[in-house]
Amino acid sequence: MQYLIIGAGPAGVNAAETLRKLDSEAGIRILGDEPEPPYSRMAIPYLLMDQIEEQGTHLRNRADHFAAMGIEVTQARVKRVEPGAHQVLLDDGTTLDYDKLLIATGSSPARPPLPGIDGDNVATCWTLADARVIHQRAPAGSRVALIGAGFIGSIILEALGMHGVQLAVIEQGERMVPRMMGPIAGELLKRWCESKGVAVHTGVGVEAIEPNGVMLDNGTHIGADLVITATGVRPNVGFLEGSGVEVQQGVLIDRCFRTNVDDIYAAGDVAQGLDFCTGEYSVHAIQPTASDHGHLAAINMSGQETEYEGSMNMNVLDTLGLLSCSFGSWQGVEGGDHAELYAPDDYRYLSLQFEGDRLIGANAVGLSQHVGILRGLIQRRTSLGEWKQRLQQDPTRLMEAYLATTQVI
Ligand SMILES: Cc1cc2nc3c(=O)[nH]c(=O)nc-3n(C[C@H](O)[C@H](O)[C@H](O)COP(=O)(O)OP(=O)(O)OC[C@H]3O[C@@H](n4cnc5c(N)ncnc54)[C@H](O)[C@@H]3O)c2cc1C
Repeated sequence: MQYLIIGAGPAGVNAAETLRKLDSEAGIRILGDEPEPPYSRMAIPYLLMDQIEEQGTHLRNRADHFAAMGIEVTQARVKRVEPGAHQVLLDDGTTLDYDKLLIATGSSPARPPLPGIDGDNVATCWTLADARVIHQRAPAGSRVALIGAGFIGSIILEALGMHGVQLAVIEQGERMVPRMMGPIAGELLKRWCESKGVAVHTGVGVEAIEPNGVMLDNGTHIGADLVITATGVRPNVGFLEGSGVEVQQGVLIDRCFRTNVDDIYAAGDVAQGLDFCTGEYSVHAIQPTASDHGHLAAINMSGQETEYEGSMNMNVLDTLGLLSCSFGSWQGVEGGDHAELYAPDDYRYLSLQFEGDRLIGANAVGLSQHVGILRGLIQRRTSLGEWKQRLQQDPTRLMEAYLATTQVI
């Protein structure tokens, strides 16, 4: 049996290691197109903050880890997949055979079509190579304009802010993290950032990137030594053209991680898989989902059919010391109920969304003690009974509600 995995991120690595545990004889090969050992993008902010060295981003510490497990890791870019021949074609013209193939190619930053985007004062923050550029071009005290204050943009904001750069953030949405949090939470984050010396421009677009900064479409010019774009990501699926593999927002997979083409599976940021909360199929581009996907896809590839219960939309952010999080259907559902707490002077906010007597989504700012409980109540689909009404009166009684409804007496 030859297992071929395209992608050396958390999804691909987890899949390879799981396959090895399940099958000591099979050939297992990971292909990755970056000139690095398999690493975690999630660790890049810590590298930018000088809290770790590059090696600290590597998914596995020992240099011989994969060889010792009998997993071959090859640097190569896949150009095409040919399902009829059970082969992939590499950039250098080599072909590789597979019996089962996993697509775990992740996503790449979308580059906004702006004048000046190709200038050498513009960077993305996605790969280790990007991190090296940012480290060199944005030392403490330099001016950085960050375009985009979504989830990834806000993570980068935290890293750059902690690194001591003078930061201006531009977000064309009406608030920060518009796809993660509602207006009150987004506004609270903005006010917090401003109180920490970060200039935040929301509801405004970028007209052009210039050699000395950014021109906004309201006529404001922001001086910057480096411009970083964080304007969303796109799944890496170009090499699937002509393969017959169905792609919508990402590679569409069923509950067993199978694509519509025999012997081809997908996992991680590139995959459009089951959403635990909505029952629909979505791309959840976060590392916990990638790791779970990789593990479970491998179990299914090995022949043990195991259905996935779905991933939860969840994001946790530390923004210059203010913790915020978003879980599940945070915008609520039709016919559902809602509870809210807002303490603007303390930078605290909590919004709970219910369907029947179950918690289905939440936004929280400045309430770090509730993160695990929110996740637990949503993921366990806990029936809250009379505790729903108590939470509607006082949403901060979450811990009591959790203990009362999840502990078996
Ligand atoms: C700065 C930053 C901070 C982040 N912080 C967080 C966080 O705090 N929490 C969180 O949950 N998530 C975070 N993420 C997102 C997280 O990193 C991703 O969800 C995760 O990396 C997805 O894993 P993956 O294995 O699906 O894809 P990736 O990690 O992107 O790996 C994909 C692999 O495929 C390879 N590849 C792509 N195309 C080809 C090809 N044609 N041929 C061969 N190889 C190919 C790539 O080189 C790479 O090795 C962050 C991301 C960034 C950039």
